[in-house]
Amino acid sequence: PAAIVWFRRDLRLADNPALRAARDAGMRIVPVYIHAHEEETPWAPGGASRWWLHHSLAALDRDLRRHGSGLVIRRGPSLEALRRLARETGAGAVHWNRLYEPAAIARDGAIKQTLRQDGLDAHSHNAALLFEPWALQTQSGGPYRVFTPFWKACLGLGLAENAAPPPEALALMAAESESLNTLGLLPQRPWADAFADHWQPGERGAQDALATFLDRAAADYAAGRDLPSERATSRLSPHLHFGEIGPRQIAAAAQAHMARSTDRGTFSGLETFLRELGWREFAHHLLFHFPQTSERSLDARFEAFPWTRDHASRLEAWQRGRTGIPLVDAGMRELWHTGWMHNRVRMVVASFLTKNLLTPWQAGARWFWDTLLDADLANNTLGWQWTAGCGADAAPYFRVFNPVLQGRKFDPQGRYLRRWLPELARLPDKDLHAPWEASAQTLQHAGIRLGRDYPNPLVDLAVSRKQALAAYQSIKTA
Ligand code: FAD
Repeated sequence: PAAIVWFRRDLRLADNPALRAARDAGMRIVPVYIHAHEEETPWAPGGASRWWLHHSLAALDRDLRRHGSGLVIRRGPSLEALRRLARETGAGAVHWNRLYEPAAIARDGAIKQTLRQDGLDAHSHNAALLFEPWALQTQSGGPYRVFTPFWKACLGLGLAENAAPPPEALALMAAESESLNTLGLLPQRPWADAFADHWQPGERGAQDALATFLDRAAADYAAGRDLPSERATSRLSPHLHFGEIGPRQIAAAAQAHMARSTDRGTFSGLETFLRELGWREFAHHLLFHFPQTSERSLDARFEAFPWTRDHASRLEAWQRGRTGIPLVDAGMRELWHTGWMHNRVRMVVASFLTKNLLTPWQAGARWFWDTLLDADLANNTLGWQWTAGCGADAAPYFRVFNPVLQGRKFDPQGRYLRRWLPELARLPDKDLHAPWEASAQTLQHAGIRLGRDYPNPLVDLAVSRKQALAAYQSIKTA
């Protein structure tokens, strides 16, 4: 007997419950990926994600071939592709791991029902989360909206002690397959060429990133995670999004590392790190229970927020890293070149766009969606609504990040700025974060003319901050 394992964003062999269920049932496994991005509308994967997906599917195919036969690639609609494949292979069961975005939930529910009506055994499993979003409830019975009690409840249930190792043997069944290259996932323009210098998509790359982090960065994570010039965080986010590694595996490895270590830094570093994985869980909990929030602010008062009407040129300056505010521009250029941006800088650029430029958070979230390799509907929605002050457990609205002070605090020697803004590199550290405050002599000495070599600031930070607070006041009292 055969079973189909429908791979989606669980592109790994280890700790993969769908794969394990099919294997434990003694089935020959038909591993399939179905290309059906239109089914994820309005959040079909963006350009950067498609680049990653291409390379991740290639890696999964290589890993499967070691077990005798490659990944079967088909085109959607998903339901038709699964039915056809079941007919061709005589498979009696279909297993997959759950996704939590509203469009995927609706599609998968309908598919499960139809396949069962067809007489197939259809099962979904959890590969992506430590806890199912419906498994946690506040004392009064509803979903959580505040992180700390949510995480306390998670810790109370216990994080994973261990995760399933890669299967030693898989009995695979071949079937006709499209070629990966015909899916057109790679961009036409060469903007993604540099991604390969920074990333290794696939299960192996994910395991390497985890091992490197535990060995080299975990001990300094608690403080280092705020410094954008350092390689102090795990960079696991795209691997996690595509399920090349799961949170159970990460939690188990981190806990084992903590148990072995006698160093206090490592212990508190990994405790902080696990808490960040907790934010990922919280983000999925929120998106599941408040599915409208990928489009609309959780705080309904923000429906009436007086955003700037005509923000196209401001948005474009922000997207291109041409706002004249160095930390913002450095972040946006890091994003464009590497497909990733440091978390602290994500908060700064998001605060600048939504507050200083009064541009709707949805416009920023869309740009991130297209350019981030780790673009993830739950995490992105949480990150934008948290920063814009309109989400669950969000930063209070009056907290407007000051990019100059943030830069001086977290990039004091300007290493991050100089990397991404070489045109400012010759400015002394003290002027680097606010070149418009530098004396004419300093600018001349550094060979910089503002407005020619680097933009003048798009807005005055103090004035625009006041305008943002006034805008907020208008909805708060409305
Ligand atoms: P580490 O510090 O090593 O953390 C480990 C893991 O924990 C991450 O890989 C991630 O899965 C999770 N995590 C860490 N911080 C957060 C957080 N604040 N919220 C949710 N999960 C978190 N993350 C995404 O994965 N996809 C997104 O689309 C995304 N959009 C964001 C948008 C904004 C405006 C902001 C402020 C944050 C966003 N984040 C997003 C969260 C965070 O910036 C990234 O997860 C993190 O920078 C990834 O780097 P890392 O893997 O080295 O993180």
